[in-house]
Amino acid sequence: MRTDNKMDKIIVAITGGTGNMGQATVPQILELDQVEKVKLLVLNSTKDKREAAKYKKKYGDRVEIIYGNIANIYDCKKVVKDAAYVINMAAVIPPTADYYPEKAIECNYYGAKALVHAIEEIRHKQPKLIHISTVATYGNRDYQHPWGECADPLLPSVYDSYGMSKVRGELVVMESKIDVWSVIRQTGMLHKNLFKDNLNGGLMFHTPYNVPMEWSTQNDSGLLLKNIIKRDLDGEVDNFWRGVYNLGCGDGCRITGYDTFEQGFSIISGSTEKFMKPNWNATRNFHCMFFLDSDVLENMFHFQRETVKGFWQQVTKDHPIFALAKGVQPALISELAIKPLLKDSNSPRQWLADNDEGRVIAAFGSKEAAENLPEKWADFPLFCKGKGDKGEDLDYEAIKDIKNVDKYGFRLKHGYDETKPTEELDIEDMQQAAEFRGGQCLSSSMEKGNLYKKLKWECADGHKFKMTPFAILKAGHWCPECCETQGVWNFDHVAKKSPFHAQIWYDTHAKDENYLYWYDDDFNAHYKKTED
Ligand SMILES: [Zn+2]
Repeated sequence: MRTDNKMDKIIVAITGGTGNMGQATVPQILELDQVEKVKLLVLNSTKDKREAAKYKKKYGDRVEIIYGNIANIYDCKKVVKDAAYVINMAAVIPPTADYYPEKAIECNYYGAKALVHAIEEIRHKQPKLIHISTVATYGNRDYQHPWGECADPLLPSVYDSYGMSKVRGELVVMESKIDVWSVIRQTGMLHKNLFKDNLNGGLMFHTPYNVPMEWSTQNDSGLLLKNIIKRDLDGEVDNFWRGVYNLGCGDGCRITGYDTFEQGFSIISGSTEKFMKPNWNATRNFHCMFFLDSDVLENMFHFQRETVKGFWQQVTKDHPIFALAKGVQPALISELAIKPLLKDSNSPRQWLADNDEGRVIAAFGSKEAAENLPEKWADFPLFCKGKGDKGEDLDYEAIKDIKNVDKYGFRLKHGYDETKPTEELDIEDMQQAAEFRGGQCLSSSMEKGNLYKKLKWECADGHKFKMTPFAILKAGHWCPECCETQGVWNFDHVAKKSPFHAQIWYDTHAKDENYLYWYDDDFNAHYKKTED
C-alpha cells in the first residue's frame, strides 16, 4: 500500500534543457503536478551554468542539475537514473554546427548513442525516450514539392553536419533496444533569441527566398512535450510511441524564406527588399518544407496555438527597444547591421569571394549561377508572389492549401502500397520498397506487420546492411554507406539509381551534376567531379 504521495510522482530527465527549446519546455513540464522534479544534464560552460542557476533560483529542489556531456555515457547514466521519461533535446545546431562540425557530431550523434545505451542498460522500469530530431534531415525543398511527410527521403544538405548527424542520431533511437521511444522532427523554431542569434553571422544567407517553411514557436514546442507526458500519464495516448513525427505549427506558420525575413524585419518597420538583395542568399542546399503530417501530433496533443505573425507581434510588445529602430533609415540598418555579415566565413557571398567552389556549387548550382543572380528584386521570381524559378506563373495560395496537395501531385511515392494497414505489410512490400530505392530486400521472409525487426537489404551499389522496415518505409532512411556516412554527401550518385531519392533531388539539381562532396578530418570542405 502506498502511503507517501511522492510515490506516485515521476522524474523527467531532460538533455538540452538550457537551450531555446529547453527554456520553454522545462517550465511547462514543471506545471504538471505529477512531476516531482526535472533532472537536467547541463554542460559545464559559463552560459549553461548561468541558465541552470536561474532554474535553481526559480524552482529549487524541483530541478536537479547534473553537469556533464551527453556524449559521455556515465553522465547519461546519472541523468536517466530513476526517470520515467527522458527528453533528448540536446543539439548543436547551426550556426555553431557550421563553424564547429565536430561539436555537432559529438552531441547529435555520439550523444544520442550514449544516451540510448544508458537507457538500454536499465532493465527494471526503463524510462520512455522522446528524441528530438530535425527538419534538416530532409534537405532542400522548393515550389515543385513544397509539401512533405515523415516517410520522404532523407537528403541532408551538403556540408550540413547538423542535418547529417541528426539523421544518424535518430536512427540510433529507432533501432535501439529501448522499449518505448518516439522521434519528433522539429522544424525551424521561432524563439526569443532569434534576432540575436541570426544577426551575427552568415547563417541568415543560407535561407533561399523561395524555400517553403512551416515554423513552430518555442512555447508551442514546449507545450507539445508537456502534453505528451500529461496525456501519457493519464493513459490517454494511443499509437504515439515507436513512431516518427513532424513538429510544425500548421497553416498559420507556413510561409516562405522571403516572408520570414519580411515578417521579422517588419517589427522595425523594415522589409526583405529594404534590407536585403536577391543575390545575397543561397538558392538551394537548405531545408524546411510545409508538413503534410504535422496535424498528426496536433490531433493527439493539441499544442498549436501560435502563428508566425502573432509571434513577432509578441516580440515587439516584449522588447520596446525595437520601436527605437523604427525611426532609423532602412538603408542604414542594411548597411550597418546586415551587409557586414556578408563577409562572414559562413556567408554564401563570401564563399564566392573566396572561390570556395564546393560550397558555391552546393548553394547555387555553379559559380556562374551565383554570379548571374539578379541584383534587383523586380528581376527575381518570388514563389510567394506567384512565380516559379523560371518566371512561370503559380497560384501560391492554392499551392499552400493542404487540400490541394493531391491535385498538384505534391505527395511523394514511397515505393509500396500505402493504403495497406501496417499490420498487413509483408515481405513483398519490402521488396517493392527496396526496388524503388534501386536495391533489394535480401531477407526472404518477415513476420507480417512487424516493422521493428531488422531485415537485410542491399543498395544499388551492392552495400549490404541491416535496418528495420520502420526506418526505411516510414522514416526515409536508406543505405548507411551511400546516404548516411558522416562527412560525405553523394546524392548526385544516389539519385541516379534510386527513383525514391530522385523525385526530390532533381527539383534543385541538374541530372548531369556529378559531384561528390566531403569533409576531410580537419573539416575542410572538398568536392570532386565523378564519372557517372
Ligand atoms: Zn549503398
